[in-house]
Amino acid sequence: MKDCLFCKIIKKELPSKIVYEDDNFFAFNDINPVAPIHILIIPKKHIPSVNSLTASDKELIGELFLVAQKIARAEKATETGYRLTFNVGENAGQTVEHLHLHLLGGKKLLWS
Ligand code: AMP
Ligand code: ZN
Repeated sequence: MKDCLFCKIIKKELPSKIVYEDDNFFAFNDINPVAPIHILIIPKKHIPSVNSLTASDKELIGELFLVAQKIARAEKATETGYRLTFNVGENAGQTVEHLHLHLLGGKKLLWS
């Protein structure tokens, strides 16, 4: 997707602090972290949001959670705990229209 910020980050046309990359996924530090660990995990396939998922994405999304677990383990967050969040649409404050899973951890997280 030509004008998508995260597609540009995947293609390394824009800089990011890369945490993980494989054939299907890319993960990088959030530029405006709200926790000591704040990583965005994204599929390389441009999918705008959870609303756009179809049955053909089932395997990819399953794999996304395994990647999240792998990153959480590498960040030493599996024992202390962490949060995985998708913001979807306006009420949730989604600002980038490329599916991204927030991985938050490194402190006790509040729930509001
Ligand atoms: P959301 O509000 O769920 O759409 O999350 C988008 C996230 O992307 C926010 O937490 C932003 O801080 C983050 N973000 C925006 N631009 C960049 C960037 N260039 N590099 C890293 N993170 C970014
Ligand atoms: Zn994109």
